[in-house]
Amino acid sequence: MLKLGFGCMRLPITDPDNPTSINDETMKEMADLFTGQGFTYYDTAYMYHEFESERAVGRNVVKRFPRDSFTLASKMPLSLIKNADQVPKIFQEQKEKTGVDYFDYYLLHNMTLSKYLLAEKLKIFDYLKERKAAGEIRYLGFSTHDNAAVVDRILTEHPELEFVQLQINYLDWESNYIQSRLCYETCVKHGKPVVVMEPVKGGTLANLPKEAEDLMRAMHPDWSPASWAIRFAASLENVMVVLSGMSNLEQMQDNVSYMKDFQPLNEEELNVLWQVRDLLKSWYAIPCTSCRYCVETNTCPMNLAIPNYFSLYNVKKQAEAVKGNRWSQENLYYENYIYAGYGRASDCISCRACESVCPQNLKIADLMKSVSASFDGE
Ligand code: SF4
Ligand code: SF4
Repeated sequence: MLKLGFGCMRLPITDPDNPTSINDETMKEMADLFTGQGFTYYDTAYMYHEFESERAVGRNVVKRFPRDSFTLASKMPLSLIKNADQVPKIFQEQKEKTGVDYFDYYLLHNMTLSKYLLAEKLKIFDYLKERKAAGEIRYLGFSTHDNAAVVDRILTEHPELEFVQLQINYLDWESNYIQSRLCYETCVKHGKPVVVMEPVKGGTLANLPKEAEDLMRAMHPDWSPASWAIRFAASLENVMVVLSGMSNLEQMQDNVSYMKDFQPLNEEELNVLWQVRDLLKSWYAIPCTSCRYCVETNTCPMNLAIPNYFSLYNVKKQAEAVKGNRWSQENLYYENYIYAGYGRASDCISCRACESVCPQNLKIADLMKSVSASFDGE
């Protein structure tokens, strides 16, 4: 299998404020190029694009290509499951939305330790094994943002799981709280192939400060920063596929161009990446990946646009570092959210409900104080 996967969590949209406004025409063009060049792996999930990604995959992929020309992955949304009755209903709904008779890859989505215990209690593993026996699932796995000890426990207690989806990128590789390398090595130990998510860290590694990009361009002038990040993940031997959440045709063209005949990074190229990583660590104030789990699970009683504020904060901090100014364009964008009805960062009541679903283990309530200090009252 070619190692690039079409991640369907950041599809092209026609209205930047409406994640459900998926641009079918652009998605079709992207799928034509992807499938036409022999790439096969499409990755969606129940919650992506506020529950519309699976339908978009049904319209723009499943209905348009022969079933044996692509493989489809989707996921059981553990964060939405409260009782066992929901599980078969959601699974059937996913089949209807996508229009497939079977999923090639099916995952328990975002399995933290607490969600793992819930899945055990509600016998979700048993249900999914039945679906596999019935031919509705080809390969069963799980995705997780939890630590290596949790990955090890799950794979030890459920050796029937066949693959694992992990967050791997060069910025998080040695991170203490994400533990990309340790999680990857745990999968290698258990002999389980890895699907990589967030190789570009939610787009963060696509738009680098000039100083960092210059290091890359000095070695390979025609390699985009995003391509360096995807090449890093794909260079790992035990990686089956690297998902890229592409949002336009240009990103697809770029990825397809070098992943068609992929060459792993060499020692010299890896050294450039480590230099870039060290530079970046001093640039990004909040390592939010914009996965939107905190928003899509409706946890915030004050209706804060959490990832949007973090993203604005990061850009503002970068601008301050470069230009030394404290007011920036980002203040306007922030106020736009307030006008649209979202709460201010200062409205955060530190209930920490959002933190329980954050895969990056961010101390969101504490970080909101920094956001508030930067944006409120200016
Ligand atoms: S801690 Fe703050 S941002 Fe998080 S859910 Fe509570 S009020 Fe919302
Ligand atoms: S704060 Fe956490 S859960 Fe929310 S978008 Fe960022 S990384 Fe995802």
